[in-house]
Amino acid sequence: MTAVVIDGKAFAANVRARVAAHVAKLKEERNLVPGLAVVLVGEDPASQVYVRNKGEQTHAAGMGSFEHRLSSDTAEANLLALIARLNADPSVHGILVQLPLPPHLNAELVINAIDPAKDVDGFHISNVGLLGTGQKSMVPCTPLGCLMLLRDRHGSLAGKEAVVVGRSNIVGKPMAQLLLGDSCTVTIAHSRTKDLAEVCRRADILVAAVGRPEMIPGDWVKPGATVIDVGINRIERDGKGKLVGDVHYTSAAAVAGAITPVPGGVGPMTIACLLANTLTACYRANGLAAPD
Ligand code: NDP
Repeated sequence: MTAVVIDGKAFAANVRARVAAHVAKLKEERNLVPGLAVVLVGEDPASQVYVRNKGEQTHAAGMGSFEHRLSSDTAEANLLALIARLNADPSVHGILVQLPLPPHLNAELVINAIDPAKDVDGFHISNVGLLGTGQKSMVPCTPLGCLMLLRDRHGSLAGKEAVVVGRSNIVGKPMAQLLLGDSCTVTIAHSRTKDLAEVCRRADILVAAVGRPEMIPGDWVKPGATVIDVGINRIERDGKGKLVGDVHYTSAAAVAGAITPVPGGVGPMTIACLLANTLTACYRANGLAAPD
């Protein structure tokens, strides 16, 4: 079997186009412009690239984009004061603090200072609790993107065996909650899981969010399974830099029914979902029903 390649790049472009159409309508009919504020502390090179991409795509969707770059030695009180200003600013509907933060800053404290209604990353403890109890919340962007790809591929996910490898707060845990919400039978695996290969082989849906290049080989994949590879790992091969996922792509693609490539799979969905969450936050802030 050769797996269907799930084209996250094309899917994300559609999501962005849909968001842009709603933004244009909001502007025309209600004179509203959804706004996203991104806060970057320090000069982490990967974070700078993410923040630039987020700003460009926010503009391209017709939204307001507000970038706040703070020096790496910014005092926590100054960062909290900025967040308080953004919370109170009616032109800002979404606030994202780019992680990781420098070690002297308490990331939990900072994230929990964001107004939960503007927490478009879905990391605030209120949104985590709402998601965990199946209530309306802001859903973390990367797992939301994975769920969209899975629903598009399968329609209903009810009754499927889903295995999520990785239990981080930003990917693994919310991914598992979303799959449970769609009535999958969910297993969360991690570094202490015994016989990970056997656990993975049970999966109709296998989500890898580990951060270890090509750790999951094809013979851990159930024939016909859908494989969602969240991992983004930069490696050197044949003297060149290359991005690979947490799944060994060629061997897994020979067994799976469908698979996301790296790059071009889950990655582009994250920013598309960030824009979708910002749009949703704008609708909700104005007492309007958010579009599907
Ligand atoms: P974390 O490092 O926070 O979590 C990694 C998880 O993998 C942990 O739960 C850890 O287990 C588990 N793990 C580590 N080693 C093993 C192992 N040998 N066997 C089984 N489980 C293991 O990573 P993130 O969740 O933040 O990110 C995961 C990957 O996804 C990274 O490659 C990251 O770059 C990528 N990513 C991609 C995004 C995108 O936009 N596409 C967005 C966010 C992340 P334990 O808890 O026991 O330590």
